[in-house]
Amino acid sequence: MITRFDHWIAGMEVSASDYLASHDPATGEPWAEVAAGGEVEVSRAVDCADAVQDEWHRSGPSARAEVLWRLGDLLAANADELAAIESRDVGKVIRETWGQITGLRSWYHYYASLAHQLSGRTIPHDRHSLVVSTSLEPLGVIGVIPAFNSPLLLASMGIAPALAAGNTVVVKPAEVCSGSIVALARLAREAGLPDGCLNVVCGRGAEAGDALAGHPGVAKIIFTGGPESGRAVARRAADRLAPVVLELGGKSANVVFGDVDVEGVVNGVIAGIFAAAGQTCVAGSRLVVHESIADQLVELVAARAQSVRLGNPSDPTTEMGPMAQTTLRDGVEARVASAVAAGAVVRAGGPTGSRPKKGWFYPPTVLDAVDASMEVVRDELFGPVLSVLRFGDEDEAIAIANDTPYGLAAGVWTRDVARAHRVGRALVAGTVWINTYRALAPQVPFGGAKGSGFGRENGLEGLAEVTRSKATWIETDDSPVADPFVWR
Ligand code: NAD
Repeated sequence: MITRFDHWIAGMEVSASDYLASHDPATGEPWAEVAAGGEVEVSRAVDCADAVQDEWHRSGPSARAEVLWRLGDLLAANADELAAIESRDVGKVIRETWGQITGLRSWYHYYASLAHQLSGRTIPHDRHSLVVSTSLEPLGVIGVIPAFNSPLLLASMGIAPALAAGNTVVVKPAEVCSGSIVALARLAREAGLPDGCLNVVCGRGAEAGDALAGHPGVAKIIFTGGPESGRAVARRAADRLAPVVLELGGKSANVVFGDVDVEGVVNGVIAGIFAAAGQTCVAGSRLVVHESIADQLVELVAARAQSVRLGNPSDPTTEMGPMAQTTLRDGVEARVASAVAAGAVVRAGGPTGSRPKKGWFYPPTVLDAVDASMEVVRDELFGPVLSVLRFGDEDEAIAIANDTPYGLAAGVWTRDVARAHRVGRALVAGTVWINTYRALAPQVPFGGAKGSGFGRENGLEGLAEVTRSKATWIETDDSPVADPFVWR
């Protein structure tokens, strides 16, 4: 039976005249249909969000914190159902979706506690009679446009701080995976969130997403996705001088120095690229490894890649699921084939690697003997493909790692503390992990440098993105105001 996901506007489901099919990537069969909205639904949602925003803000930090706290608990309590929806929509293994969704409890609890921390400052002024203070105010209606790969996590990184600060929200989920975000909105109502504070308009990016980015009632857009749609969103918002946060893609380097315990690093490299079938923005898709240990590390990584269990993501023993979209899988296939034709050597997976016949799978792939001109090295493939690049010294490692238009994340593996600091400083990226990879927490800011975007999510920085500072000057001296044309 096909499951249906409608829009969620003003605290209720709103059906549509048109629906998009959502396919189960493990079978390639449609399993759900998703409302396809546009300008009309977006306008309705923004109007609803705008109508209740002031009241939500005035309800006070305690009330807002209580709702967010309860929502975090409800998400964790409903993790089985939500994880099953996401796993079906995106093809991600159930263990990972479940872990991500139970982890969201911390995101909502963290921002619930920050609802009480929206304080300003009192600023001393040379004129003693003046009291100058600042206060933090919400922006209004925030538009959240997440990418497909971690629907609830990416949406929540916008929703939680926005609601905590007294904004209201309209979310436009990615068209291929809207189900869990509609379910989140329903849970938010159960948590006590007033109707209209969180709305979900489903549909295509170029229709519903474009309408949201261009809507004059939306104060700011928090966007997660690829550079092309990011540019389109930024252009739309620029036309009406609205700010945006752009969380874009990456081509992250995982840099391994010769002083490491080689066997100990293997899992870090594997987790960096093959988790979620490589469909994460921080995928460590370039293994930059010192020539003294390169052969040994590549052999170990390739052996583990070959043993990764591919299969149905709902099976708890499956280690890697399919890719979420055929277009992505086809893009990976084409670029690996072109690299192989140009001389890249397949150490694991690749065009002839084994994978389930049914579904949109691509095997975990390790490509050696690549060079910097190849698409597999330059482009974000958003798939399970690791390219190996060797270096001789520290400067060369840094140069290779930074030789990318992106700057989202990077990993460094070394036992030398001084080197860890030096290299960490030299890498141009929003996040650098030393001797670990792919760690994320609500209290730690996250975002890109260079072509990976701008603005920050998570942490105090994420809250600052959805507030505005207002300065208020109060003259406490009752004397008549001085004549402005008499110079004293
Ligand atoms: P995408 O750019 O195709 O779509 C992202 C979202 O934008 C979707 O909701 C889509 O419907 C919408 N959209 C598309 N065109 C639009 C337009 N013209 N106007 C308004 N909205 C539009 O990206 P995707 O395929 O969903 O996700 C993969 C990309 O997301 C990768 O590049 C990945 O690195 C990136 N990503 C970044 C982060 C991060 O935090 N930096 C996290 C996850 C994914």
